[in-house]
Amino acid sequence: MTAAGPALAIAAAVRGGERSATSVVEESLAAIASGAELAAFNTVTAEAALARARRIDDAVAAGEDPGCLAGVPVALKDNICTRGVATTCSSRILEGWEPPYDATVVGRLNAAGGIVVGKTNMDEFAMGSSTENSAFGPTLNPCDPARVPGGSSGGSAAAGAAAMTPVALGSDTGGSIRQPAALCGVVGMKPTYGRVSRYGLVAFASSLDQIGPITCTVADAALVYSAIAGHDPLDSTSIPEPAGDMSGALGEGVAGLRVGIVAELSGEGIDGDVSARLGAAAESLASLGAEVGEVSVPAAVYGLSAYFLIAPAEASSNLARYDGVRYGLRVPAATAADMNVATRTAGFGDEVKRRIMLGTFALSAGYYDAYYGKALKVRTLVLRDFAAAYERFDVLLAPTSPTVAFRFGERTGNPLAMYLSDACTVASNLAGHPAISVPAGSGADGLPVGVQVMAPALGEAVMFRAAAALERAQADRRPAGSGGATAGSASP
Ligand code: GLN
Repeated sequence: MTAAGPALAIAAAVRGGERSATSVVEESLAAIASGAELAAFNTVTAEAALARARRIDDAVAAGEDPGCLAGVPVALKDNICTRGVATTCSSRILEGWEPPYDATVVGRLNAAGGIVVGKTNMDEFAMGSSTENSAFGPTLNPCDPARVPGGSSGGSAAAGAAAMTPVALGSDTGGSIRQPAALCGVVGMKPTYGRVSRYGLVAFASSLDQIGPITCTVADAALVYSAIAGHDPLDSTSIPEPAGDMSGALGEGVAGLRVGIVAELSGEGIDGDVSARLGAAAESLASLGAEVGEVSVPAAVYGLSAYFLIAPAEASSNLARYDGVRYGLRVPAATAADMNVATRTAGFGDEVKRRIMLGTFALSAGYYDAYYGKALKVRTLVLRDFAAAYERFDVLLAPTSPTVAFRFGERTGNPLAMYLSDACTVASNLAGHPAISVPAGSGADGLPVGVQVMAPALGEAVMFRAAAALERAQADRRPAGSGGATAGSASP
């Protein structure tokens, strides 16, 4: 939320001629400049944003309606292609590369009157949970600059939490929208696989990747989701049915809604402060009339193992295209093969190399059945167990992250410790289901805790319905006069 308020309010004021898009964008650019030390942005497109804002103001003056995101500043994760504007994936290997086209989501945001103000920092190629794997250095968490903002969409989450942009887009392959949103105290939503076009999203693991919104309110997430979702013939995995308007679902309340707390994602390995917030969230839904119970999704315990075979396997194939010929960096050498090796050695960071090696190994003859093949079977079990859970419950609840934001360097020495950050989020990606992280008060050291609402495939409406109720319950609990991303008391 910028000082101008959430996206819904900004768009209403701009459409009604009460605020100029130019002043909104100027305010956003000023906030980005004054928070530069957070390193949330890789690129700021100030001139283009101001030019677009003037065009929107002209349209309003001419009696036209620029759309539901009129004048709303938007930050894009730097793996979403923008025509003629550097798209780096926070990697040296894409140095100097400018995409020749816009991603479909960029076209849709523009068509709705949104204004892109820049590209946000991330873990290199979206591999990581802390934004420490960026070739340009980490983003700092606005709630505590000594801590990580989460990842891999850390810059997008920080831009929201620091009131730079009311709307940011991230990508979520195993939790990269929801986990940073939780750690920064904002809302982050991963749509059903196929709901939002991946055309123009730089591929990490194509069977898991989805683009989604990071905002300060659930209503804004629903608004942005509706603007970017829907069929796209340029993405062969795109779902043909229209996504629909979510605004009706937001106020429906949760009376009679069946809410299941996932036992496997909310017990072992979850910090006490996070469990306490989950418990309080469940209680508040129950007090609003939801039927809350516990549910088992047994295969979820193997989710992380399956994810860390499937995602690297797909990444090893997707990243083969960075060969020193087609994109960005080239390190010259005597032969093409040597040039290829030298370019990839210099261009990729350690985590990306680790994933490529892991994935190549898991796919290699002799190991395919034991690793990749087995992981695919686990994926089927996750889907089956979710289907059983959704026979008894409308939505499921779990923590978003096992802990609050951790300190820089705390997990970089131990990849496994870092991977455990994704324990609660990867199951939704394996299943292709929608999930949203909603701020649910604060935990250790006053840092934000996020609670995740999950729903079956194409269940965005019921997911937003429960998420909006959860958000209202938090607001009711908040002490009068308090505000900001970490507001909410540690005790109910
Ligand atoms: N943190 C997870 C990983 O490192 C998820 C990343 C993502 O969703 N892009 O793979």
